Amino acid sequence: MYLVILGAPGAGKGTQASRLAKEMGLVHIASGNLLREAARSDSPLGLQVRPYVEKGALVPDDIIIALIKDKLGNLDQARGVVFDGFPRTREQAQALGAALSSMGKAIDRVLYIKVSEAELVRRSAGRLACLACEATYHVQDNPPRVPGRCDQCGGELYQRPDDKEERFRRRLRIYEERTAPLIDYYKQAGLLVEITNGEEEIDKVYEELMAAVRAVG
Ligand code: AMP
Repeated sequence: MYLVILGAPGAGKGTQASRLAKEMGLVHIASGNLLREAARSDSPLGLQVRPYVEKGALVPDDIIIALIKDKLGNLDQARGVVFDGFPRTREQAQALGAALSSMGKAIDRVLYIKVSEAELVRRSAGRLACLACEATYHVQDNPPRVPGRCDQCGGELYQRPDDKEERFRRRLRIYEERTAPLIDYYKQAGLLVEITNGEEEIDKVYEELMAAVRAVG
């Protein structure tokens, strides 16, 4: 199964995608995690993408498309994928369709998690991420068992610099301009399922996502 999770920054894509992947045996491909990991290194790719990731601007399409294609090429094809944070532009969506089609595969569903702007801003202010494994938490909604430490790997938790309010609002504007048009793109392709309870607690959102996934024929 090939799934795409679509939604604004802070909509819960990472949290839901990682759970979906674990429970359904899918590979979780999170473009933001791949780019942050690259940006921490001094590799040629790292140096290229660092300024974009730090500012919260979109990395150029050719770079992220090449990175995702590389991931797909190295995949155990028996397992499906849940894409999180990719595609973010029409060019990326077209490239993903073409890459899957060349593997004899196709996207089964695009799950769009709808969340209001006020709630996105509230969430970003309390979001914490693990430096080691990228798991995410929220100080109120989903706190770690031990403050400052990741439940999954014991790594150190931090606030992403691009979650600070000014940069976060910039990311939201970029999302509206470049990524939100994909809602219609996938609606027209007959692939979109809107997850309407995106503001509820994590388990409830997950239930609605799973219901949409089970409906895949
Ligand atoms: P995320 O963790 O999904 O919020 O992504 C963090 C940052 O990585 C974004 O603000 C962008 O700078 C970059 N990024 C992630 N995914 C993409 C993508 N599909 N296209 C371009 N840039 C991306």
